[in-house]
Amino acid sequence: MIEVRNLVKKYGDHLAVDHLDFKIEAGRIYGFLGPNGAGKSTTMNIMTGYLGATEGEVIINGHDILKEPEEAKRHIGYLPEQPPLYMDMTVREYLEFAAELKGIGKKRRAEEISEVEDLVKIKDVEKRLIKNLSKGYRQRVGLAQAVLGFPEIIILDEPSVGLDPKQIIEIRELIRKLSENHTVILSSHILAEVREVCDYIIIISKGKLMASDTPENLERMLGQHNVVEIEAKTSPSEIRRILKNVPGIETIETQAEGDEVTKGSIREKHGQDIRENVFRAFASAGTPLLTLKVSGTSLEDVFMELTQRDTVPAAFAKKSGQKAGEGADKDAGDL
Ligand code: ADP
Ligand code: MG
Repeated sequence: MIEVRNLVKKYGDHLAVDHLDFKIEAGRIYGFLGPNGAGKSTTMNIMTGYLGATEGEVIINGHDILKEPEEAKRHIGYLPEQPPLYMDMTVREYLEFAAELKGIGKKRRAEEISEVEDLVKIKDVEKRLIKNLSKGYRQRVGLAQAVLGFPEIIILDEPSVGLDPKQIIEIRELIRKLSENHTVILSSHILAEVREVCDYIIIISKGKLMASDTPENLERMLGQHNVVEIEAKTSPSEIRRILKNVPGIETIETQAEGDEVTKGSIREKHGQDIRENVFRAFASAGTPLLTLKVSGTSLEDVFMELTQRDTVPAAFAKKSGQKAGEGADKDAGDL
């Protein structure tokens, strides 16, 4: 559906996108994950024809975005990091304008705008000026603009940045709904968001592809483990005694907090969820458990690990189509 081949973007001497290769297949929600400055927006701007590449190509349903931009763009709806909104237009006027730009015929325009307004739930504000809308509503208008024409692929650059928690939940629901009929690619620098919404993750760091796989496979490849943090009203030795026969525990670390309370970090064996067993063990010992929570999850470890290094770890090299250690010294640091 989309093929990104050997994509390079240089800003002067700065290599913002460093030989990226990946494929997007139909019917998934892709998460394009990387810290700020990783090259997400640059890549998305190239994929959508807003920016030229220094090297490489992007093929969208058989059309090269640089050589046949009109054909290629027809398959894509894009919500850039800064949504291209006109503050002095009403929502309706703006969508009419966007529909015209997309070449949606006059006859179909009204019907299609109405359909999109229903989909992203902005019908009740269609007569309002965009400048008077909340950030959440503005983002939905931007989303409406991307969805107009119902392209097969919808690309969203950090769609939830700057939204409050309620608006974030609403936007995520919308994205899920869109994914029923569209392939969605969204970028984010927040792992939790990508994990929550996406079923395939492409991790980039310093312009390089670090990994691309399902969240489950990414966790499996590094073989990391979840850590459960506890606090209990008892001594370290008593905690160890209580947890001694609980299955699924790899290691326990304890630290006394004052006279009565002990903190513990319990590493789970891979793929286990020990929380319920831990709770029951403390309950049956009659020992008050004050805190029980998962602190680091495996995917967070994977993300930290991948975005703090300059080379592709061996476990990922085959998957991501790069050689382990590739690009080690080319542009370490300095972003
Ligand atoms: P992300 O979206 O992942 O935060 P960007 O694609 O915006 O990353 O930026 C990637 C790198 O390229 C950053 O180091 C950024 O400073 C640099 N960069 C982005 N746009 C420009 C530009 N127009 N001129 C020069 N450098 C740029
Ligand atoms: Mg960006």
